[in-house]
Amino acid sequence: MALTLLRGIRTQTLFGANAGLFCTTRRHPLAHFTTRVESVQTSEPKSVRKSIQQATKEAAEHKTQGFEAVIGIETHVQLSTITKAFCSCPYDYGSQPNSTVCPTCMGHPGTLPVLNAKVVECAVKLGLALNCEISMTSKFDRKQYFYPDLPKGYQISQFDIPIAEKGYLDLDIPMEFGGGHRRFGVTRVHMEEDAGKLLHSESGSFSQVDLNRAGVPLLEIVSEPDMRTGIEAAEYGAEIQRVVRYLGVGNGNMQEGSLRCDVNVSVRPIGQSEFGTKVEIKNMNSFSEISRAIDYEISRQILLHKESQADKIVQETRLWDESSQKTFTMRKKEGLADYRYFPEPDLPEVVLTSDYIDEIRNSMPELPEAKRRRYENMGLSMQDVIFLANDDIVIIFCITLIFTLSCMLCY
Ligand SMILES: [Zn+2]
Repeated sequence: MALTLLRGIRTQTLFGANAGLFCTTRRHPLAHFTTRVESVQTSEPKSVRKSIQQATKEAAEHKTQGFEAVIGIETHVQLSTITKAFCSCPYDYGSQPNSTVCPTCMGHPGTLPVLNAKVVECAVKLGLALNCEISMTSKFDRKQYFYPDLPKGYQISQFDIPIAEKGYLDLDIPMEFGGGHRRFGVTRVHMEEDAGKLLHSESGSFSQVDLNRAGVPLLEIVSEPDMRTGIEAAEYGAEIQRVVRYLGVGNGNMQEGSLRCDVNVSVRPIGQSEFGTKVEIKNMNSFSEISRAIDYEISRQILLHKESQADKIVQETRLWDESSQKTFTMRKKEGLADYRYFPEPDLPEVVLTSDYIDEIRNSMPELPEAKRRRYENMGLSMQDVIFLANDDIVIIFCITLIFTLSCMLCY
């Protein structure tokens, strides 16, 4: 077992079944960003819009004309634990707002977090699956920022000592996208808690806060900037989803927000070693959207380089808009210093033993990459290997078939 040193006083639940409890707030000015920016963007000349569309097409065809893109991904994986990360509340997606909350996850003064040991187990599992070095001693830190869905004013996360780091992920690009084996570096995997959610009224005059999601455990996976195209990034995200599902640590559902990918994209002339200015893109709900958003962003940046307007590429967060197939400015990116991280004083260090890690390693199922190599060694074509190892429906079908056959044989 992990020698996780847990302390803290669990407070009594004061609001057992407070369904319908809402905290209201005036709508944050940022909540209007999509409409405001869209109105600016739609006023751009038709010729510019056309040239960007053309450039997107060229990028998709890998005609990047002397430039290369550098892409890194931050993936948030929501864990399917029975209770939240630091309190005993459950989390059921779609349940009535504020029905699964307590003073701890609502951030009331005087409450103390108690670490859910299952979160550590999931983190070690995913760290091992991503070929990471596991930290025998790690700690939690406070990441401080203000937002109405974060009543504590800080998020419990891990800063300088993550639970896992220096890993990699192997995958095979499908034949229809050119094929080939790729290895992408994984910088780190760390544990953190999710924030609540804002529900905006139709009139836009106010917003309501739902804290059901506050305190739900997340693992953030930060990749090395190793991808060069939208397809590579999308395949990396899809492989993370497969690993999460194979391990059973989360459902990996993008529509529910259980798997969220934020991508960082920059462009530089081929041969230049320094990175260009990176832009973060959010709000993508499928791997196809990730691929298209990146290809659009690469084209936009290459176009600005070619028109000698590279200074207009600024470090910012942009949102993908599926209806217009474009990215839009959301906000200028905060630097690390803005969060003023410091060690979480209410949680002790997480200390692991080699026996605990070995126990988890021995309990892990065969992962997609191992399965693909096994199928390949059996002499199957790469197309069949990817089809059999990567497709959920095929896996479920095979399990059902084996179960049915074994039942028939028993009968
Ligand atoms: Zn709670």
